[in-house]
Amino acid sequence: MPAHQYGARARRLAKLRSLDLPVPLGFVISVETVRNIAEGRMPDVAPLLAEFGAKGIVSVRSSPVMRDWGGPESQLNIGLNEKIYQLLCNRLGQAAATALYCRFVQDYSINVARLDEAAFAGLGNAEAGSAKTLRASVAIYEEELDEAFPQDPRHQLTQVLRSMARAWQGTSARILRQARGAPADAGLGLIVQRMALGLGAGESGAGVVQFSDPDTGKVGVSGRYLTQSQGRDALIKGQKTGYIAIDARGASLQEASPNALKNLRSYAKTARIACRDAVRFDFTLEDNKVWLLDATPAVRNSKAAVQIAVDLVKDKAISQQSALLRLEPRNLTELLHPQVDAKAEFEIFASGIAASPGAVTGAIVFTATAAQASAARGEPCILVRRETGPEDIRGLHSANGVLTERGGMTSHAAVIAKGLGLPCVVGASGIKLHLKAKTVICQNDTLLAEGDIITVDGTTGKAMIGPVAMSQPDLGGAFATFMGWARTHCDIGIRTNADSPTDARLAQRFGVDGIGLCRTEHMFFKDDRLTVMREMIMADNENDRRVALDLLLPMQRSDFIELFEIMGDNPVCIRLFDPPLHEFLPHSRDEMRELAEAMGLPISRIIARTEDLAEFNPMLGMRGVRLGITIPEIYEIQARAIFEAAVHCTKNGSKPVPEVMIPLVSAHREVEMVKARLDGIAAAVQIESGVGFDYHLGAMVETPRAALRAGDLASSSAFLSFGTNDLTQMAYGLSRDDSGRFMRDYVNQQVFAEDPFQTLDIDGVGELLLLAAKRGRAANQSITLSLCGEHGADPASIAFCREAGFDYVSCSPFRVPIARLAAAQCAVRDGALGDDGDYWV
Ligand code: PEP
Ligand code: MG
Repeated sequence: MPAHQYGARARRLAKLRSLDLPVPLGFVISVETVRNIAEGRMPDVAPLLAEFGAKGIVSVRSSPVMRDWGGPESQLNIGLNEKIYQLLCNRLGQAAATALYCRFVQDYSINVARLDEAAFAGLGNAEAGSAKTLRASVAIYEEELDEAFPQDPRHQLTQVLRSMARAWQGTSARILRQARGAPADAGLGLIVQRMALGLGAGESGAGVVQFSDPDTGKVGVSGRYLTQSQGRDALIKGQKTGYIAIDARGASLQEASPNALKNLRSYAKTARIACRDAVRFDFTLEDNKVWLLDATPAVRNSKAAVQIAVDLVKDKAISQQSALLRLEPRNLTELLHPQVDAKAEFEIFASGIAASPGAVTGAIVFTATAAQASAARGEPCILVRRETGPEDIRGLHSANGVLTERGGMTSHAAVIAKGLGLPCVVGASGIKLHLKAKTVICQNDTLLAEGDIITVDGTTGKAMIGPVAMSQPDLGGAFATFMGWARTHCDIGIRTNADSPTDARLAQRFGVDGIGLCRTEHMFFKDDRLTVMREMIMADNENDRRVALDLLLPMQRSDFIELFEIMGDNPVCIRLFDPPLHEFLPHSRDEMRELAEAMGLPISRIIARTEDLAEFNPMLGMRGVRLGITIPEIYEIQARAIFEAAVHCTKNGSKPVPEVMIPLVSAHREVEMVKARLDGIAAAVQIESGVGFDYHLGAMVETPRAALRAGDLASSSAFLSFGTNDLTQMAYGLSRDDSGRFMRDYVNQQVFAEDPFQTLDIDGVGELLLLAAKRGRAANQSITLSLCGEHGADPASIAFCREAGFDYVSCSPFRVPIARLAAAQCAVRDGALGDDGDYWV
């Protein structure tokens, strides 16, 4: 039965009937007829009603063309009148018959005759079945409309159809469904169906049931059942609802009618294979006999969705390709981190941008030093800052979660937290930090102090007071199987941005194709390296600088050896030093004194040098390759560390091919100069060690000029990697660290369709990428193209890169599975899909 003519529910019911499952007799009124009804052209319902017999009681249910579009509420018990009421009194008993008739009178009055619901509020419960309530309800109708309550079933049905068809055309219904993606001319079918009563003799009632656990996807029973009820009464809060399986907390269907449960389980098994998905039934019991009123996808969280998809493939109900399309890539994050338990209760004290997923509980710390002390004591902590900078790296490494008052999706805290897999909320504008007093004042004036326990939920962007119940991730089992299929079907490389062995190991667990960006500057914030780094920056001549750099050389070498070893045969792309030097300088007076002591210099020299290095616009100043050109020793020492690490690993039997990447290039000559120096160092290391190795040199394309001159750059490069964080910043002239302050307004007012730091701006920045790719390829056919900005895990941006023929994208470790699934889905959609796709759409 085509859904576009009769609606999705009609199609589902037809399917159930074709499987010989017990569906009450029904007829479908087509989308076209419903349109006619809305416009006043009523069909003759008499022949239709005749099919149900003289005593027939029917329901009318919505059947929108797409399941998600909603639709007017079901109307039940149509056909009830005084005569049928009397018959039902004999058949079902007075109480059940009265409850049914009373319910119909009230529903009809409110939904069809449009009387005010409040008019019936004081009458008592229709379900209670009191004759007084029934008579009072009829009296209200008759008084308000000045006519007798309609007794002719044909009239009743005609009016119900008219009101449902017109409700579908109403403004609020339109707005609601258009928000769910429905077109302006969205169609609705209607189903007229024999009422399975749910009230009366024997075990009767209604409920919903599914045989897969909504939290795990494994076999299990869940749902609700209410004896002597109809429709979805069992789901209404406050009802004395029962359970499906035996439950100590209350009555259950299993006890009331074990056979009905057995039958439902067997029907679900049949429907699961036929619908290629775990199903949830709406059902009614009529004197122990099960009637199915609908089968929809079983309710599930993301973990359960993976389990269900994997089990369906194992049972040969669907293909791997189809399974991969069953999950929204972004929802995978729920599986990778601990999450706030769905049933947990909590008190929110701040809301901001959900910058890095997962939830964590810990004590508030305000400084990197306090975070380190906390880690040393083995106590989890949350670093709470106005915003973070490179000097906080050590604190971020020690913290278990991050909360910042300022910042956007690509602010320092967001980028680093994502890389480290730290739950992080940024731009929590409702809080005020008082760093001197070491307190946070929250929106509701609550005062939190250092040491107070809080929970940060980077999945939803909320921060809560105190500990909150969590559920833990499980990366084996169905998840591992599912991700394995994603890798098989993915046709673009997925690498990781990793600055430390921890990052690299984590990404390996997720199955990664190498490191696409190692931001080496982060390594200089580790342990005792910062002081050496600062000594290097303070030096005012090359010799003194080299002394400090020589101390850093073995440290860097061991970093790279570890990365090569972890990555095995997979490539490792190492970016040379990028940030402005002043980011490494001490900020507080105490830190300056410490450095002065370490260097045996007066503090005035430290202050003077700090002032010297200050820039008006550091992100556009002395950073990236500009440092490499003006202070070549830095890149020289890094290159030597990389090449010596390659020699070390080669001697140990592996064959690393390091990739070295130059940041913030804007002129071809920059690449040529760095290349000449690096080639010289590579040759020297090979001669010194007697070990040969290959290396690839590439340029980052992250300035608009680099994109325009990509042809030149490609002629001297083995690869070009698009740094879309900086490229977006420079293309828009929009600070990546400050945009969080107004981005929400911009997106809300649709100035920008999306935050361009989250989803690649295809029209503008995307054009720069395409142009650069074209020019790069024209100059160097074997050029490798990639993207390593934060967009590397955004599904739409990945689709763009794949379409443009890029070799890989690179993203922070915890986002690798998302990128992998998004890329696999693109490939699956491009390929020939079997006929085992989503049954429900
Ligand atoms: C970029 O600019 O996109 C990039 C990857 O480099 P970073 O974020 O370190 O500036
Ligand atoms: Mg950059």
